[in-house]
Amino acid sequence: MLEEFEGAATIEKVASLCRRRAFVFPTSDIYGGLGSSFDFGHYGVLLNQNIKGEWQRSMIQERDDMVALDSAVIMNPQVWVASGHVSGFSDPMVDCRTCKLRFRADHLATSNCGKRPSKRPGEDAQCDLTEPRHFNLMFETHVGAVRDDASVAYLRPETAQGIFVNFKNVTSSLRVRPPFGIAQIGKSFRNEITPGNFLFRVREFEQMEMEYFVPPAEADEWHRYWIEQRVGWHTGLGVRPSHLRVRVHDADELSHYSRATSDIEYLFPIGWQELEGVANRGDYDLRQHSEASGTTLEWIGHEERYVPYVIEPALGVGRAFLTFLCDAYDEEVVADRPRTVLRLHPRLAPVKAAVLPLIGKNTAMVEQARGLYEDLRKALSAEYDDAAAIGKRYRRQDEIGTPWALTIDEQTLADGTVTLRDRDTLQQERIPLDGVKRLLLDRLDEAWHPRG
Ligand code: ATP
Repeated sequence: MLEEFEGAATIEKVASLCRRRAFVFPTSDIYGGLGSSFDFGHYGVLLNQNIKGEWQRSMIQERDDMVALDSAVIMNPQVWVASGHVSGFSDPMVDCRTCKLRFRADHLATSNCGKRPSKRPGEDAQCDLTEPRHFNLMFETHVGAVRDDASVAYLRPETAQGIFVNFKNVTSSLRVRPPFGIAQIGKSFRNEITPGNFLFRVREFEQMEMEYFVPPAEADEWHRYWIEQRVGWHTGLGVRPSHLRVRVHDADELSHYSRATSDIEYLFPIGWQELEGVANRGDYDLRQHSEASGTTLEWIGHEERYVPYVIEPALGVGRAFLTFLCDAYDEEVVADRPRTVLRLHPRLAPVKAAVLPLIGKNTAMVEQARGLYEDLRKALSAEYDDAAAIGKRYRRQDEIGTPWALTIDEQTLADGTVTLRDRDTLQQERIPLDGVKRLLLDRLDEAWHPRG
């Protein structure tokens, strides 16, 4: 039975808010765009930075068994031969000779027929599907001035291989020993056959991947550990636990490198879909690169020597972005007026505090508000707004998910207190001006739960 997404979000509503409020624009918009490619606007950049920052904080900063890496997008093409991507990184594709559309053979049950969208491809008498053919998802390019077979290179389809080929560099230059991990955030490129659903499946995206190297005998245990950790990361940042589940891959859907994979799935408005994959890649990658490069990639300790197994949690930044927005998106009626609000975790919110002089033309209020704003922005992302009626300014901040608004009014001028408005509860409290920064920083550190 298809479970229903609970909440006000649809992909269309989220995409429309993203465009209206400068989170995400269609790329090269004035030229008609480019299928499923997007540009991030001001608030989208800030939200992306916060998502990556939270990942880095939990993966690297707050651990002592993890180091960082940032490898090149275009690597030696031998990397992709050895990893199996040149021969095996493909999806099965079918064409319909009638409607000329192209589908992923393994996604027919969720695709729509080009002529009769209420049916699945192949279901209508007019459908004329080809046999599945393999389509390699890697983007090819050429390095150097000569375009021949010898100059072919690839845009990386995953960041993981950059980590494996640096195994020796990292273990010989940093104080690490298994179990330890190498974490990387960076762009990946896949020439997807059927991109779509806004940021869900695109051709150019950022990945946050971590390869955790462990003694082989401990791999199953660490696999379970990382599934649990990663689910905790999403719920800790406010995603409703009822919208998350872990799905174990059947043997016939495992990738060529994988011994076991579990997907952390989210109940998107389009149904349950993969949010993050957590794979046990075994020793596949290190062995492949050892053999192909002639450089042995193994762990050499005082009394031991082995090829570690690798546990890999891999998450798309854009897929996490879409998840947080779908989960946070809410519509309600307050005092007879509709409001759209993003109930984002305060640490994810692009702007933490909006400073608003009640009357934008009152010089004394503006002066106080500017002072507070300029002080706050040294410590957190803040915004100053003195245009339009106060209700309208609150609504704008609600739509970009700003958790706190600070209003400077007559009373501020008299007693040095300001109104602090909470985005979720809409409660207002009066607090002293000079305690605002400390209070907000403390609240950012506190645990936060969706819907108060
Ligand atoms: P699928 O089978 O759905 O094509 P996959 O299982 O091959 O995807 P992985 O290789 O496991 O995907 O990628 C790891 C993570 O990277 C995914 O869980 C997802 O968050 C993100 N990701 C992968 N492909 C895309 C894409 N085309 N657009 C956006 N994010 C993606």
